[in-house]
Amino acid sequence: MIDLKPLYEKTYMLDSLGNRLEQTIEHRRDPLSMNVASINSVLGEKAKAFLGSADIEMITDLQEKTKLTCPFCSAAEKGTRFMPEFAAEGQLKVGNSIAMPNLFSKCTYDSVVIINHKQHTLFPSQISEKDFASAIKAAVEIIRRAAGQDRSLVHHVLGMNFLNPGGSSVPHPHFQVHVRSMAYSGIERVMKQSADFYQTNKKNYWRLLMDVERQIGSRYIGKTGSVEWVAAYAPYHQKEIWGVLPGKGSLGEIDDDEADAFGLGIARVAGFYESIGSHAFTLAFFSSPKTGEGGHYALHVKICTRPAFKPLYANYDTWFTPLYLGDEVHTEAPEKYAEKLREKF
Ligand SMILES: [Zn+2]
Repeated sequence: MIDLKPLYEKTYMLDSLGNRLEQTIEHRRDPLSMNVASINSVLGEKAKAFLGSADIEMITDLQEKTKLTCPFCSAAEKGTRFMPEFAAEGQLKVGNSIAMPNLFSKCTYDSVVIINHKQHTLFPSQISEKDFASAIKAAVEIIRRAAGQDRSLVHHVLGMNFLNPGGSSVPHPHFQVHVRSMAYSGIERVMKQSADFYQTNKKNYWRLLMDVERQIGSRYIGKTGSVEWVAAYAPYHQKEIWGVLPGKGSLGEIDDDEADAFGLGIARVAGFYESIGSHAFTLAFFSSPKTGEGGHYALHVKICTRPAFKPLYANYDTWFTPLYLGDEVHTEAPEKYAEKLREKF
């Protein structure tokens, strides 16, 4: 039902001295989306020289400079406020997290959730699991209130861009939660594929995938509460890790323990990324617009590394095949980084 068989290709060439060179490329297809990821570990050497790792001095310097004028450090006093009919309290506060409207909105409820308004850090390992969890809880509250206010406001995405190469403009760690009446194409697509799989196989794809991955073991990372963590078999993006919550389909229906479980896993993955020189990362929750879809779907978060934070970084993750065709090439097999990440779980 879930086919995880790669296709191998070989390529041959002569070097400048006439010596024969041989390389093996592995092509993998995501069993649900049919998306292709290719792996050539020889590229790892080129990647090291070409992509490099983070410039720590530059991150520390940016942290100090941006702290002074950071709009999120002073959000409690100077930040935006929700309309009173949405939130009488103005801003939503959970633990150290503050949710408030994004000054530049992309949908009806476009909100920033500052993960910890007291902590201006550009180092992912310093963001605590508790703060990640509080920010998820604040986002869940926004998703619920929006749906309660207007039945068409059910399409939502919770995500995070960290540092400039990760797509962020304000460096202070924050989530964004968007709620609108227009479906998100990527979420609609994966929900349809999951529903089709259920109809054909009478099994929940996500539960089955977790069973298969647990059995194989080489990409399975571990559990935090009810959330299971794996390195994606055919990653769409670099060093892509998935956190899957079988049984629930939407952020709108998770409880505090499940938010804590996601918070803990995300903190561990983000800390791991920093340890391999990738401070910049991006994540998104694939959350069903409706509650009660856990039978054929599962809420999951996808998280990946982005280009190393350094001057003139190469934006390797948006060269032409990932950008236009959606198929990425990887320099390290998922089983390799899963092995290292597993130590943190
Ligand atoms: Zn700040």
